[in-house]
Amino acid sequence: MLHVRCLLAGILAALSIAASQAAPAEPRLEILVYHEIRDGAQGPADGPTAISLSRFASQMRYLHERGYATLSTAEVVDFIKGVGALPAAKAVAIHFDDGWKSAQLALPVLERYRFKATFWIFPGAGIGWPYMDWAEVSAIARNPRFEVLSHTMTHPWKDGDTLLDWLHGRTPGKGVEQARWELAESRRVLEQKLRHPVHYLAWPRGLYDDTLIRLATDAGYAGLFTIDDGFNERNGDVLRIRRTMINGACDDLAFVRILADGKYRDCSAAAKRPQDGEDQARGRTPRTALDLCLASSAGRRYSAND
Ligand SMILES: [Zn+2]
Repeated sequence: MLHVRCLLAGILAALSIAASQAAPAEPRLEILVYHEIRDGAQGPADGPTAISLSRFASQMRYLHERGYATLSTAEVVDFIKGVGALPAAKAVAIHFDDGWKSAQLALPVLERYRFKATFWIFPGAGIGWPYMDWAEVSAIARNPRFEVLSHTMTHPWKDGDTLLDWLHGRTPGKGVEQARWELAESRRVLEQKLRHPVHYLAWPRGLYDDTLIRLATDAGYAGLFTIDDGFNERNGDVLRIRRTMINGACDDLAFVRILADGKYRDCSAAAKRPQDGEDQARGRTPRTALDLCLASSAGRRYSAND
């Protein structure tokens, strides 16, 4: 009986593989999100928002060798709207959040492969150390393969002081008008300084809701970027574009898996906790990408205005 079951299982598996090979693959697009880049021993440890330059370079080389095309934000939005085709069978977009000065370490690597990349900055509090200054931001914006876009004006991110908290009356002195200003003013300043149109926004900490989406479209944004992980597909939602954060503790094999399934991987926790079942045994809820992002950012000099 066992033998028959195994045989049936084998036939079903073979049929399923044949079916998956026969079906044309639906084009899908993953957006990879990086933050800080570390050169040598200097800088933050590898984790949700930091990666070593050598590992980053190795990931870019992999994308190049595997024939991945890289997309600008307009190309991403056109693909999701269904009006543009992907330029290659495999495509990604490469994003850098917050405008960290160390993100400039990525530039020669990106140039080596002629990769496109998008930098999201917050001009009200994220200019000057530890972030890029205006001359550095402008130099990136002048490169035809790179673009600089809006990450709000001051990047509200602390617990109890996010755009969502403001909207729901949980932050004294902050409300819908201040949220509107964060969205509109960032666009205005970037367009004035960099002299290019700014139609896209990435949410600080990836936090958003329907009201914030409405405020952002009122402010003139035509595409909104989250840190909800996963692939973007044709005829998807340009107001909820998925992006997958790359945890700098992930090794090359984990990176390949992330490219294959679009899922965020919590490699820094795995590296720190050799006994994998420990948290489940204690009944803790597993951490999400966002939790990790917050833990890693906590206590750091996030912005001059905090
Ligand atoms: Zn950010």
